[in-house]
Amino acid sequence: MDLRDIRTCLVVMAHPDDAEFSAGGTVAAWAEAGARVHYVIVTDGSKGSADPGMTPERLAALREAEQRAAAARLGVATVDFLGFPDGEVEANLHLRHAITREIRRRRPDVVVTHDPASLYWDHYINHPDHRAVGQATLDAVFPTARDRLHAPQLLVEGLDPHVVRQVFLGGSQHPDTWIDIEGTFERKLAALREHTSQIHDQAALARRLRERHSALAEGRPMAMAEVFKRISFG
Ligand SMILES: [Zn+2]
Repeated sequence: MDLRDIRTCLVVMAHPDDAEFSAGGTVAAWAEAGARVHYVIVTDGSKGSADPGMTPERLAALREAEQRAAAARLGVATVDFLGFPDGEVEANLHLRHAITREIRRRRPDVVVTHDPASLYWDHYINHPDHRAVGQATLDAVFPTARDRLHAPQLLVEGLDPHVVRQVFLGGSQHPDTWIDIEGTFERKLAALREHTSQIHDQAALARRLRERHSALAEGRPMAMAEVFKRISFG
């Protein structure tokens, strides 16, 4: 499948800001090329603050607004929040069916999510929400979204099976796909700037990301890249 043929893309991420960090330049490029991009954010982001005066309720509302503003910068068509508590996500059937519902509703050619196998810090640590959302999304793509007798309650809702053609895993330690983001890098930064509750030094972040995405493009015919592990289904 040629990436220029993508018509509909579903980005399934654990927290507000994950989509921009891992795929903001790619999302902007695809949206610009005419794809309809939908976001599904699994958690409410209610744990992402060190401010003793902050409450989970206020933070969740703030982060939802930040996520919607960031998505608008990238040309994202819709943003849905599944409302799971931040930091408590498990890759169980409940989550898998919730994600399957979104896949069957939006009917994407391409799904973007976390690589559940990623491990950092001496190959031991990944955010458990990222691991759970990545695994549940892969399990939703295959077999639950595509096979008719899975999640029969969705058929009752009028949501027919759907075959996703490709999955892009962000944050992968084994990337095999490089997306040129030179033309959309500034929009990725602008989107990230909307996450004001999370990013305290905008200039340092811009420097760090410019270095990172330039380094990821090294040896490739592009100046800046976002990278993914890509899985194709027949
Ligand atoms: Zn996250």
